Amino acid sequence: MLGVSVKDRSKTDYYYARFIAYMKKKHNLQIDEQQKVDKWLMPYISPGCAIDYGVGRILFAGEIAGFLNPMGEGISAGMESGYYAASAIMKYFDDVDLVYANYKESTAALHSYMKRQWGFVARMADTFKEMKY
Ligand SMILES: Cc1cc2nc3c(=O)[nH]c(=O)nc-3n(C[C@H](O)[C@H](O)[C@H](O)COP(=O)(O)OP(=O)(O)OC[C@H]3O[C@@H](n4cnc5c(N)ncnc54)[C@H](O)[C@@H]3O)c2cc1C
Repeated sequence: MLGVSVKDRSKTDYYYARFIAYMKKKHNLQIDEQQKVDKWLMPYISPGCAIDYGVGRILFAGEIAGFLNPMGEGISAGMESGYYAASAIMKYFDDVDLVYANYKESTAALHSYMKRQWGFVARMADTFKEMKY
């Protein structure tokens, strides 16, 4: 699997073609058959690993909430935050403020872990310095 990541999706084909050309020239890439084309939306990295818990009665979980592990392994963060969002709704269905309070409290350790991961990556190279908090 290989591909590119772009800020402006209208430039995807341009960067993809350049990347493939580079891989062919420099690393002798050979593609016999392309089996699948896929595209993802990736969350924009902003400083401080801020979490957006939701809007009104819609709670956010996983990457869209900001539980984004820069070292990978994002599925567990998605499942954990999703579980806590559902638990908060089950416990406090009739009181939105309590739902948010419980959701924030339950995910505090997860958030703290994400922040440590962000700090770790930020210290690895200047390229990632905007992840500092
Ligand atoms: C190539 C690659 C390999 C990875 N490998 C691993 C791995 O080995 N282990 C691991 O733990 N993690 C891995 N990850 C990261 C992992 O896939 C993500 O961290 C995880 O999927 C995030 O889960 P999520 O539920 O937050 O978001 P997503 O899985 O992205 O789910 C969001 C869903 O919302 C849908 N959606 C978006 N907008 C709308 C809309 N407006 N209306 C309705 N639906 C919408 C999307 O279609 C999507 O189905 C990998 C990621 C990539 C890109």
